[in-house]
Amino acid sequence: MELDVRDRTFFIGLDRDAGTSAELVFTAGDGQTLTQQIRIQPRDWQIERVNVPLRPRANAEDWWKMREPEWLAIRDARAKDTDAQGWKQDFIWPVTGRISGRFGRQRIYQGEPGSYHSGIDIAPGNGVPFVAPADGVVVLARTGFSLEGGIIIVDHGAGLNSAFIHLSSLAVAEGDSVRQGDTLGNIGASGRATGPHLHWSLMWRESRLDPLLLTGPMP
Ligand SMILES: [Zn+2]
Repeated sequence: MELDVRDRTFFIGLDRDAGTSAELVFTAGDGQTLTQQIRIQPRDWQIERVNVPLRPRANAEDWWKMREPEWLAIRDARAKDTDAQGWKQDFIWPVTGRISGRFGRQRIYQGEPGSYHSGIDIAPGNGVPFVAPADGVVVLARTGFSLEGGIIIVDHGAGLNSAFIHLSSLAVAEGDSVRQGDTLGNIGASGRATGPHLHWSLMWRESRLDPLLLTGPMP
């Protein structure tokens, strides 16, 4: 849990695959603790059963040699802690448009689950600019990643961060501070994408969160 004692605000997030309960532990300055059990409401996810096998990647070793530095750059960026305060804001949609993929969607290949969709896809058209959903610091801004293509990661502080992928162009650089509503870049289909869309994924520490929970429904 992240706590700001000055204004008594905190943020917690639970992963899609969190269990049915969690323990909230509050530790006061004098070391005293307060514990509370939280019951977690289940949600319905879009599950699709397909009658094809989940194939292992061909030439997995060669692929990982190329992929590892990208994976490390993303992991390191997401682990960066800045003192951004965006986590306290009401998040806005980075762009409005048709939602072409929802968070949590998953395919089951002949009984074997594939990885679930870790973000939300918005498809307003190729080249459309998108903005920062909340204040933050740009901790990664790269192009040419094998899966993500153009990628921007914004740290919102307190362990909360946003990643935007498949971009056609980037309007910010690593280290830039951005305000809610500032243009970050343009939507594209770079990396592994079937068509132009913005994939927005939100993480708090190790937990993947549905951005829709912070923005409310698409206007
Ligand atoms: Zn996506």
